[in-house]
Amino acid sequence: TLTVVGSINIDHVIRLTQFPRPGETLTGHDYQIVPGGKGANQAVAAARAGASTRFIACVGDDALAQSLVAGFAADGINTQAIASISQVNTGVALIQVNSDGENTIALAAGANAYLTPEQLAANCEGLACKQLLLQLEIPLATNIAAASQAKAQGARVILNPAPAQALPEALLSLVDVITPNETEAEQLTGIVVSDDKGAAQAAAALHKKGIATVIITLGARGVWLSEHGKAGQLISGFNVKAIDTTAAGDTFNGALLAALQEQLPLLRAIQFAQAAAALSVTAQGAQTSIPYQADIQAFLDT
Ligand code: ADP
Repeated sequence: TLTVVGSINIDHVIRLTQFPRPGETLTGHDYQIVPGGKGANQAVAAARAGASTRFIACVGDDALAQSLVAGFAADGINTQAIASISQVNTGVALIQVNSDGENTIALAAGANAYLTPEQLAANCEGLACKQLLLQLEIPLATNIAAASQAKAQGARVILNPAPAQALPEALLSLVDVITPNETEAEQLTGIVVSDDKGAAQAAAALHKKGIATVIITLGARGVWLSEHGKAGQLISGFNVKAIDTTAAGDTFNGALLAALQEQLPLLRAIQFAQAAAALSVTAQGAQTSIPYQADIQAFLDT
């Protein structure tokens, strides 16, 4: 199976014409509670793309947590290693979206911060898997512990280094495949990724840290693929009418892993993941916009 270790958030989304300034109160025109969190989004994307997926995470003991976990199970995700932490809230994101589609996000990590290396060990017996997918919304020490355990058992470790932050060698040295977007690649390497040359330089810097495969996502342009020792290349994305790009990266990562799990060659796996991500930007929301295997296949076949 494919294992995702990561965050679960409840996204509270308010749409307004403009953002309130400090001290100001403004009335929005739309409010929604949506399942989110990078770990959860990626696990859902992998499962919907057809992979047998296990998700290791923590929720709080609030009322919404159980319905979130039930939702993951309905997507076919193995939820046995999702622990409920008492007297803690489930991760929360307060999201404001203005009429230009820009957002501001305030996060309360809640139970995600309780997914320590000790809690990881308590959640499940081991990390034996073919592929382990990580992001950065849980403690760094937990990602390092998960990566080293899974790698010791022969797993391939994939890191989506989001949200953007600098990372220690202790984690990077355990990573086989890294999938930053442009901002994250710059944060990791100090190199601005605004064109192919920048992407190639950032990829080279990441190879230097011991990472064999670097996939930099470039939004609507597609991805820059660089395998250590080979020339990098731009792989174009699909041309669609974007409505909401929330979770494009999460969908890409989950679907990529699902395709690799099916033993697809890397180029074809990237094409499948880009199709999934393109479909996700044509619909509103995070988990609500993540497509299913049949839709992705139909899109690729047209
Ligand atoms: P993130 O959401 O993490 O910032 P990106 O914006 O780079 O990540 O998007 C990830 C992938 O999603 C891209 O590599 C591309 O395949 C796809 N994608 C994103 N935006 C669009 C778009 N407007 N049209 C088509 N595909 C898109």
